[in-house]
Amino acid sequence: MLENVNEKCAVVGIFGHKEASKLAYFSLHSLQHRGQEAAGISSSNGTKLHTIKDRGLVMQIFDEAKLTTLSGNSAIGHTRYSTAGNDSILDAQPVFARYDLGEMAIVHNGNLTNAQEVRERLIKKGAIFQTFMDTENLIHLIAKSEKEKLLERIIDAVKKIEGAFSLVFLSRTKMFAMRDRHGFRPLSLGRIANGGYVVASETCAFDLIGAEFIRDVEPGELLIFEKDKAPISIKVYEPTPKKCIFEYVYFARPDSSVFGQSVYQMRKNMGAELSKIKPVEADMVIPVPDGGVPSAIGYAQASGIPYEMGIMRNHYIGRTFIEPTQEMRDLKVKMKLSPMIDTIKGKKVIVIDDSIVRGTTSRRIVRMLKDAGATEVHMRISSPPTTDPCFYGVDTPDKNKLIASNMSTEEICEFIEADSLAYLNSDALLRSVHAKDDEYCTACFTGEYII
Ligand code: SF4
Repeated sequence: MLENVNEKCAVVGIFGHKEASKLAYFSLHSLQHRGQEAAGISSSNGTKLHTIKDRGLVMQIFDEAKLTTLSGNSAIGHTRYSTAGNDSILDAQPVFARYDLGEMAIVHNGNLTNAQEVRERLIKKGAIFQTFMDTENLIHLIAKSEKEKLLERIIDAVKKIEGAFSLVFLSRTKMFAMRDRHGFRPLSLGRIANGGYVVASETCAFDLIGAEFIRDVEPGELLIFEKDKAPISIKVYEPTPKKCIFEYVYFARPDSSVFGQSVYQMRKNMGAELSKIKPVEADMVIPVPDGGVPSAIGYAQASGIPYEMGIMRNHYIGRTFIEPTQEMRDLKVKMKLSPMIDTIKGKKVIVIDDSIVRGTTSRRIVRMLKDAGATEVHMRISSPPTTDPCFYGVDTPDKNKLIASNMSTEEICEFIEADSLAYLNSDALLRSVHAKDDEYCTACFTGEYII
């Protein structure tokens, strides 16, 4: 279970459906795991855009009355994770603006790597920023572009930014969806059963609203949605894929298909690979719920060691708005996870988790299992050691707080008080996800950043 690593956002866009904002709401609900601090929806009725956004969960922010005010056949939505001290409502999305061509709203998943540079250039030219979001750069770039049409302005603007972006733009009459040339963050296109189209960060959003997956938006591709037309595709960049492999390891929901493959199956493959390269004798394989479940199933099936539920997760603790001190984090782990004493007492257990970030959660889990009577605890991690932070839209602690960048595997094993510790290596991870060429970003395991 990852400690303090969070996907920053999810985006969704609905076009050509009479209940667009309601479908955006349900889609955001499915994507809530990608951000729980704030959410918002902008809709267009053809002449005017309406936006509602606030801090909190999707279900807390919206009700029937609010969704009714978000009228029109198109809507875009966003859920946001914010870093500490930066959770202002101003930083919630969609970002809305009026400019010389009318009104627009934007939602963004990812991180722009040249955001500061672009912002300084814009400020020198007189731009005034209201938020700390790199997404606001886009509003200014579009508003200041000398091109005549919005489509040309969007292309002009995205050519000035670098980094990770899956974007959805809404104007009064059109919607645009785009992925950066590397396709760091996912974005899929679907067709809604009773009319219209949807784009969303993950396909789990499609299932809830009865949409059928068509394909992924390609890296470097811009899709244009216009009334009564199929989406038009423009290749803005030659694609050079560097898809985020962590989507498979941890972020995406297991019932989603991401980058064209089932997340659940990829995680099972990771577990199976782990059992082959890091076998250990034990009585049972248990997952750290929920993240470790598919990999533990894969490990158990491949090794023939029985799969058991050795740890219960309490899903009802909600979000605790507490300072992220070590003491509070320890307490949160205790509130969240508890041992199945009758199952693990007197047994040698293999515990499968998706990653170790600071190491403190893993230590708490090992102690908890030993206190419950496990005779041996062997920790197996279904990804390589996380040694480097992410600059492409995932909130990770600084390098000096990542335990694997400061300690060897043996030292970490000692720190977490396990009987053994082993990680999946990079080759096995890439094999698990059927990687071809160099199509995945693995920078948080290798420190090799493409931008
Ligand atoms: S650095 Fe890691 S988390 Fe960030 S995009 Fe690359 S693989 Fe994903």
